[in-house]
Amino acid sequence: MNNHESPLTALQQGHWFKLICGASYQHLPAIRNLTLAYTLAGADCIDVAADPSVIMAAQEALNQAELLGKQAQNLGFGYRYRPWLMVSLNDGEDPHFRKAQFEATACPESCWRPCETVCPTGAIAFSPTKSGVIDELCYGCGRCIPICPADLIYARSYVFRPDEIAPLVLQTGVDALEIHTQVGRENDFQRLWNSIQPYLEKLKLVAISCPDGDGVVEYLKTLSEIITPLNCPLIWQTDGRPMSGDIGAGTTLASVKLCQKILAANLPGYVQLAGGTNDYTVAKLKSLGLLQPTVIDDPVLNPVFPNPDQQTQTIGGKQLRSVNSSHLVAGVAYGSYARVLLSPLLEQLESRFTPEPQRVTFQRQETPTDRAQPSKILSPIKTRPSLSVLEANPKLLWQAVGKASTLVSQLKSVIGDS
Ligand code: SF4
Ligand code: SF4
Repeated sequence: MNNHESPLTALQQGHWFKLICGASYQHLPAIRNLTLAYTLAGADCIDVAADPSVIMAAQEALNQAELLGKQAQNLGFGYRYRPWLMVSLNDGEDPHFRKAQFEATACPESCWRPCETVCPTGAIAFSPTKSGVIDELCYGCGRCIPICPADLIYARSYVFRPDEIAPLVLQTGVDALEIHTQVGRENDFQRLWNSIQPYLEKLKLVAISCPDGDGVVEYLKTLSEIITPLNCPLIWQTDGRPMSGDIGAGTTLASVKLCQKILAANLPGYVQLAGGTNDYTVAKLKSLGLLQPTVIDDPVLNPVFPNPDQQTQTIGGKQLRSVNSSHLVAGVAYGSYARVLLSPLLEQLESRFTPEPQRVTFQRQETPTDRAQPSKILSPIKTRPSLSVLEANPKLLWQAVGKASTLVSQLKSVIGDS
């Protein structure tokens, strides 16, 4: 490990790994344990919901990872530094910012409950204590909605208000913000950006996530003009096929295709894939020559290029080349695939212990506009059953880190390949 390394180095060198816990996912034990396992495996960024309880659960995991980091390295895992903590916001309706809902009493008795089967997080339950969608577990993938034969399931969306930005940045200590937007929302984006701007100096990174669409390149160019000048690194997240990476190998193609389009546009900033990424993504990128195969592996000459457009700089009389050229990807973010990969192990843990920590802060107000409404920022989580945390079971912990490493190392092992 060298002291010059940071998540920024990973971005510059094209092996940035981001774990997406989910902009709507609020299952605190899973978020905490996923964060811990992927951090110890070498993740560079953890992306969570803009929910104070969720942020706090992730921060606890990052603190724990610092304590276990040396052990992880001794076991050969990729932990190098504390990853950046990112939260996601939206400038309008977006599938990442919604929850499914239905009234279970209206379900026909004869229904075979395909909703329950299709849900990837077990968020739909039919039991004497709870029937319907378990809010914390739903991350808005929408798979249950079209499958209901009685058409009972609908989505509740929510959009962030500008006045929610300040407490989020100032009181939670997050490192990065990601803005989810869609083609045609220049005005909504501008409004959200205006409310973020006063707090930019507190951030290490800004990301803009956008799915494909007619005129996407022109749209992102407009956003680029809106945010210029920007004094921190910027990521364009190519959200190919949102929340689909666990469905099958082919989902990665949409993300790769959008990534190629954005790379060709040569926008100022790093390009990182998401939306459909999975076990096949790195192999696909490699086959297309979109991953940078070499890095400058010298602790002194491990240069920082604050501006991704900068191709060279001189240190110690040597001219160094930025390895993240504008035609290569800077990294990959994994969401549903990364979560599903670890879910059998985390389910084992949860089945052994009562896992639910007490929630203290977040209230989603189900108003007609369904806006997120944090009532209080970063109050402590009062009680936490200690045995629900992954590190309480070292065997499961290192199994989970091993599993996470199978994904993280694909990207990291590009280092040195040539
Ligand atoms: S299928 Fe998706 S949208 Fe429906 S309840 Fe499950 S996580 Fe939520
Ligand atoms: S598929 Fe529709 S009708 Fe059937 S159990 Fe689920 S919500 Fe109820």
